[in-house]
Amino acid sequence: MPSVYRSTPAFLWYNATSERPAGLPNYEIDGLGRVVMVAGEVFCRFHSAETGRICTDSHRWSSLGALKKHLRDAHKVAAAPSSAGSLSSAHDQKTADFYHDLKRRAEGEDVASSTPRKPQAIANDAALFTVPGQAKKT
Ligand SMILES: [Zn+2]
Repeated sequence: MPSVYRSTPAFLWYNATSERPAGLPNYEIDGLGRVVMVAGEVFCRFHSAETGRICTDSHRWSSLGALKKHLRDAHKVAAAPSSAGSLSSAHDQKTADFYHDLKRRAEGEDVASSTPRKPQAIANDAALFTVPGQAKKT
């Protein structure tokens, strides 16, 4: 079954742009220090722990694999293994929500965004935290 999130207006908007949308949230980090990526991502949203600024490389990457390589080479971080194959419908819905929130943030709304994760990944990972230095704006 094709993933539902891919046909949502928010994902189509994200996937049609060649420049990184404004307001992308930093990656969440799993208990092993790996960044948690979301299905369909093509823009780097790594924020410097020192400056809190997002990556200066704002162009669109050709694939999730190319983006992972960039994270490794430029930011010295590994990506947590992404879900292979089709998403569960719950995960699919969370992915759709993620892009919906991204679009709202890009349009200037103050929306908290959380990375959708597989229930198993959450169960295996009690130590989820965000990258130090990215203070939440108040
Ligand atoms: Zn980057």
